[in-house]
Amino acid sequence: MIKRADIVIIGGGVQGCSIAYNLAKKGAKNIVILEKNTCASGSSGRCGAGIRQQFGTKMNCMLARESMKTFETLSEELDYDIELNRAGYLILAYTEKEINQFKKNVLLEQSLDIDAKMVTPEEAKEIVSCLNLEGIIGGTFCSTDGNVNPLYTTFAYAEAAQRLGAKYYPFTEVTEIKTEDGRILSVITNKGEILTSIVVDAAGGYSGPVGKMAGVDIPVYSQRHQILVTEPIEPLWKPMLMSFSENYYFQQLPDGGILGGFGDPEHEIKGDNINSTWQFSRTMAKKMVKLVPILNEVHMVRQWAGLYNMSPDSQPILGEHPKLKGFYMSLGFSGHGFMLAPTTGKLIAELILDGKTSIPIDKLDIGRFKRGELIIEPSVV
Ligand SMILES: Cc1cc2nc3c(=O)[nH]c(=O)nc-3n(C[C@H](O)[C@H](O)[C@H](O)COP(=O)(O)OP(=O)(O)OC[C@H]3O[C@@H](n4cnc5c(N)ncnc54)[C@H](O)[C@@H]3O)c2cc1C
Repeated sequence: MIKRADIVIIGGGVQGCSIAYNLAKKGAKNIVILEKNTCASGSSGRCGAGIRQQFGTKMNCMLARESMKTFETLSEELDYDIELNRAGYLILAYTEKEINQFKKNVLLEQSLDIDAKMVTPEEAKEIVSCLNLEGIIGGTFCSTDGNVNPLYTTFAYAEAAQRLGAKYYPFTEVTEIKTEDGRILSVITNKGEILTSIVVDAAGGYSGPVGKMAGVDIPVYSQRHQILVTEPIEPLWKPMLMSFSENYYFQQLPDGGILGGFGDPEHEIKGDNINSTWQFSRTMAKKMVKLVPILNEVHMVRQWAGLYNMSPDSQPILGEHPKLKGFYMSLGFSGHGFMLAPTTGKLIAELILDGKTSIPIDKLDIGRFKRGELIIEPSVV
């Protein structure tokens, strides 16, 4: 293993790989990605890989819109088919409060050139004819949202970064970060020490513990999030179906399987438990069959879990730590870090190399929590 690097990225998920690729694309040399397991073995390889632009905050809308533009041509750019499937997102409302929030969201989205619109229950059924409309009072639809293959996308970034000179070390766990007088000296791994003055914490569900290794407190925690997939069936519908109040998201993938999950923040304990539970599959199956009754006879084939890395306002923490020069954070994505990776990877690369970013991200700094300037995102599962 090399002994010295200009930039060490801890975490070989979609964030770390996108950052490495964007750094290398901008001409940075001697970049190393350290991954304790294998590429995409963390949340990136376990996620739904839904990519949507429908959010309730300007920041997320902008980051997601820019990412979508990148996703459109990413297969060509990275020379790897990431299986982009632009099937849309149909987000359903069950309460007046939600309708009011959705109206605000759509106004915001349209002002940012995101092609989202309000839909009535009848229009929702025109989009997805097998829907049971019970309880649904409206929703929003954005036809340009979609999904990709999360493994292929992460591999694509990792391989492209390596073609541009970055090094990817799997099975290489960072165990210590040496610092002195507010600067980084080196990282210690299970395979030896690497001298460096720049470290990027892109360790997903383990980003808090990585911060502790460097002696900095990052206000994030991790929480299990489960997901399942059914056997493939004949094509029934295309868009992602999602509800924040009823708490579900699921979609028929191009291969015919239905993939979906829900968040359970009140019952899930914080930590890094990623065991699967039968309570999840039972509840998820009920949610699916209630909304799409025809799924009653369909068999589930697999379930798994991963970690959401949660921040206090469900927004990522991006930028350099004010107390440790050269310690950059790209973490706390709170369940929507896959879809933002093309843009956040580019912005972190710009920040490291140019000291400024093409989209302002200073409001997503870690200092916002102390300042009490939280940016609450209302539209998350
Ligand atoms: C079930 C589920 C569904 C989801 N659905 C979506 C979705 O539809 N759309 C979306 O945008 N997001 C979704 N997410 C969230 C998304 O998966 C994450 O936000 C995103 O993958 C974060 O990427 P990452 O690279 O930061 O983290 P990860 O992919 O977790 O990568 C971090 C890596 O760091 C490594 N690591 C940790 N500690 C160390 C160390 N000490 N040394 C070396 N390596 C280390 C880990 O092994 C890991 O591979 C979902 C998440 C889950 C769990």
